[in-house]
Amino acid sequence: MSARILVVDDILPNVKLLEAKLNNEYYEVFTATSGEEALAKAASERPDLILLDIMMPGMDGYEVCRRLKANKELAHIPVVMVTALTDPEDKVRGLEVGADDFLSKPINDTALMARVKSLVRLKMTMDEWHVRENAATQLGIVESFSAMAQSDRNGKILIIEDRDFEQKKFTETLQGEHDMVMCVSSGPRAVELVGKYSFDVIILSLNLNGEDGLRLVSHLKSNEHTRSVPIVMVGKEEDMPKIANGLEFGAHDYLIRPVERNELKARIRTQIRKKRFQESLRSSYEISLSMALTDGLTGLYNRRYLEVHLDKLLQKNREDKKRLAVLLMDIDHFKKVNDTYGHGVGDEILKSFAARLRDKLRSFDAVARYGGEEFVVILPDVSTERAYRVADRLRSTIANEPFACKTPQGLLDITTSIGGAIISDDETVSVREALDRADKCLYEAKESGRNCVVFEGKGVLDPDEVAKLEPQKPDMIEDKD
Ligand code: GH3
Ligand code: MG
Ligand code: MG
Repeated sequence: MSARILVVDDILPNVKLLEAKLNNEYYEVFTATSGEEALAKAASERPDLILLDIMMPGMDGYEVCRRLKANKELAHIPVVMVTALTDPEDKVRGLEVGADDFLSKPINDTALMARVKSLVRLKMTMDEWHVRENAATQLGIVESFSAMAQSDRNGKILIIEDRDFEQKKFTETLQGEHDMVMCVSSGPRAVELVGKYSFDVIILSLNLNGEDGLRLVSHLKSNEHTRSVPIVMVGKEEDMPKIANGLEFGAHDYLIRPVERNELKARIRTQIRKKRFQESLRSSYEISLSMALTDGLTGLYNRRYLEVHLDKLLQKNREDKKRLAVLLMDIDHFKKVNDTYGHGVGDEILKSFAARLRDKLRSFDAVARYGGEEFVVILPDVSTERAYRVADRLRSTIANEPFACKTPQGLLDITTSIGGAIISDDETVSVREALDRADKCLYEAKESGRNCVVFEGKGVLDPDEVAKLEPQKPDMIEDKD
């Protein structure tokens, strides 16, 4: 994993030392020797991680971190504060301005590499969501938000710890600001609980009696309920190699005994905030995805989706030696509906029209709103006879029953014209060509008086003749005749 790291320290030898260590592990390193330079380099180089000295003349590390985290473009870059300070209050202050972790000088190599690796990996996952979220915000579909804006209280916390006094201390420290703090003293007990509650953080002791804490980390990381729940390990100073492994397995953070209460609080808040941020990125992505692929008025697929889908189907049909029908439908004299009753009634009709189509098709037939009052239906794996029957059924389901709407009469007769093309497996046809062929037939249907179906090579379908066509056996699954 080749990541880009920005090292910030006002003392040049410190910068050089870290640079050498990181270069050894094949990281690409940038350096800065003041707070101002750090901010400028962060913006120009967009590193994957920042190692930030706290004590610097002028703008100190806290201020740099605060500004980074307040900048929407840079807030997602993990910041590790490097400090000679040992006062727990300094750590808490760092966590409060958004630091992701601390390393104390002199820097322990195992700790350094473990942190760098796990934070860089975490950032890669977040980047993935960020790209998608950016697309969504650019389209104006969702509002952008930042990690620091997420709430970090009222979480649900699971503690896996078998020492009474530690259990008591963790619980006491955390329950004031969180909704649920549960303690268990063994892995199996924890696994039972994670199925019942959705926790925001799991605190896990690496010193459980008779249990391998690391095994539990990897178990939780592969369990569907806990895969994305941050794990904070608790261990002793001499457990550092184990902790490094745990980070490698996907744990997010760790605390060293004796655990300092304020540091515990601050680290748990940080994890909760990050988890909520990731969740909001994901859900906004899902919303934007569904909005990007469907039509807002009718809920049907939109043109963009239809074209991609049809392209895939055309390819698949050639491979599977199947036939496919493309139907293009256009509501007759729709302009008159708008002109006479207004756009609102027009919209009502479009919605009900879409609902009728959906109702008459199998789950694997695709129906999309192609444009204003034009719709496309794709019938994959279909016989010619079935394509005729379905097309005429769609026509009659529109024409045979008036549409309820807010007109003086409360009802409106609507008809539709349909053009159909059947694409056989030995044809190599583009999406454009397939739709053009259906469009020519649609034109002919309009010319032939509307409220009718025209198929390529067949001309106007006679409904009585279609009704006599025998349903073919293999495509009767889910058929709604
Ligand atoms: P034809 O039978 O030849 O198809 O006649 P038409 O009036 O249906 O065709 P034309 O293409 O002239 O008019 C289509 C109309 O569809 C014009 C437009 O105002 C209306 N339309 C397109 N999109 C919407 C929409 O989202 N809502 C409403 N209410 N009307 C729409
Ligand atoms: Mg039209
Ligand atoms: Mg029309």
